[in-house]
Amino acid sequence: MSYHLEALKTAIPSPLWHDPELMPEPKPALQGDKECELLIVGGGFTGLWAALQVKERKPDTDIILIEQTFVGDGASGRNGGFLNTSLMHGKTNAAYHFPGETDRIEELGKQNIKELLASLEEYQIDARYEKTGEMVVALDRDAVTDLREECEDRLAAGEDVVWFDENTIREQVSSPLFLAGCWGEGGQDGVVDPFRLCVGLRQLLMERFGVRVYESTKMIQSVPDGSEGMTTVCESGVVTSKKVFLATNAYASPIRKVNRSTVPVWDYQLATEPLTNEQLEQINWGKPGSRHALSDHCNMFHYFRLTKDNRITWGGGSSVRYYFNGGIDQKFMDAPDRYEELAREFFEFFPQLQGTVTFSHKWGGIIASSTRFCMVPGVEYGGRLAWSLGYTGSGVSASRFGARIGIELLGYEPSDILNLQFVSKQGIAWPPEPWRWIGIWLTQSELIRADNNGGRRGLWLKFLDKIGLGFAC
Ligand SMILES: Cc1cc2nc3c(=O)[nH]c(=O)nc-3n(C[C@H](O)[C@H](O)[C@H](O)COP(=O)(O)OP(=O)(O)OC[C@H]3O[C@@H](n4cnc5c(N)ncnc54)[C@H](O)[C@@H]3O)c2cc1C
Repeated sequence: MSYHLEALKTAIPSPLWHDPELMPEPKPALQGDKECELLIVGGGFTGLWAALQVKERKPDTDIILIEQTFVGDGASGRNGGFLNTSLMHGKTNAAYHFPGETDRIEELGKQNIKELLASLEEYQIDARYEKTGEMVVALDRDAVTDLREECEDRLAAGEDVVWFDENTIREQVSSPLFLAGCWGEGGQDGVVDPFRLCVGLRQLLMERFGVRVYESTKMIQSVPDGSEGMTTVCESGVVTSKKVFLATNAYASPIRKVNRSTVPVWDYQLATEPLTNEQLEQINWGKPGSRHALSDHCNMFHYFRLTKDNRITWGGGSSVRYYFNGGIDQKFMDAPDRYEELAREFFEFFPQLQGTVTFSHKWGGIIASSTRFCMVPGVEYGGRLAWSLGYTGSGVSASRFGARIGIELLGYEPSDILNLQFVSKQGIAWPPEPWRWIGIWLTQSELIRADNNGGRRGLWLKFLDKIGLGFAC
């Protein structure tokens, strides 16, 4: 058996972050009829941050939050924990979709991450934040040229970035594949333990702010109730509220507009056992001041980082998948091919660890992808129901801002951010099946082909760029 399969043999199929010792006592399902001012549907970052920001703005708001399984079971408890300033999957994507608003969106992203970290401090939430900056590495000559240009542009714009060539990058983290790296060391980009963040927010909301949380409670339908409020039917009861905020990410929604704005894409990850000091030395990673959080400069990028106890979490690459008809069933977690591919690629990056490092966890989660590769907020029924979703794989910090947009659309201290095209411009809806599956499959294949071809985009990707559907990282 090859070393990468051997290394996977004892990996358990569960998110690393769902540590049984951290799991709070589940909250019982909603029973019967309830009333509140604001109903929040979805117990991930978006729903949790929405509840907190409403309470901070209007403390006497009576809030119910419902979650179909448990808080942090969605993408928020399964991600890589990369906390990025960007609200838009990078500046290039922002400029592409919202010309003229790049600087403002960037400024809002900086303010958002600052406020997020201030909340962790103020409410004493231990999300194991580490300020690592963001290191992007180049694996081929074309990527070196591209990344160098980007790095120089960022330097010229006054950003705190450091360039590493082939020799110096390996002093930061040593992989034979790395040819260069650009490290954004300024700002507050870093990593967190995402499930700890969910659990911390859940506890805060219930204990300090009196938010009523019902787990194992699935929303079936939400409709306007006369001219005033909303009636939301759940599997085990009905909630009457003035307002509803949908923080349901990639899950099927009874609201058609919401459903067509995103597609669920599965992303898979592995975590190693904790590395010994000797193993860390072999890959030159983990010294104080250079515990980098990395990704490689290409379309189908990998993302990898160290945890507090020096495991490596490893995800992304070409293992991401859209399943026909938007499959979200947990059976898609059972994806041996994906895990094997990830494990093989891991040892290509770090051959020094072959035969000595094993994986402890393997898991998948659902990314809500929009056609503009960033969040899609919206509002219906005269401001009674709003939503924010579709962070397209970059939502750990952006979800807090998505939550802010959502609550402002519902009338909780609206500000000038609602005038941005970023908020008001409708996203292009995904086409129905089978065109959806065919389009995504073709695009993914073409993105991989471009990666293998020095980033050069073929006719299909150029066509998408032309009609405003191109992914520009
Ligand atoms: C594997 C993976 C890796 C990622 N890595 C990163 C990363 O490193 N950095 C980054 O910035 N982003 C990353 N992301 C994206 C990020 O995790 C998400 O953008 C973010 O967590 C979205 O938060 P959310 O609250 O909107 O969604 P979720 O966390 O998915 O929460 C939505 C919740 O709504 C609930 N729900 C849905 N429908 C209903 C219903 N009808 N009734 C009741 N409840 C319902 C769901 O059960 C779920 O808990 C990653 C995502 C994945 C899957």
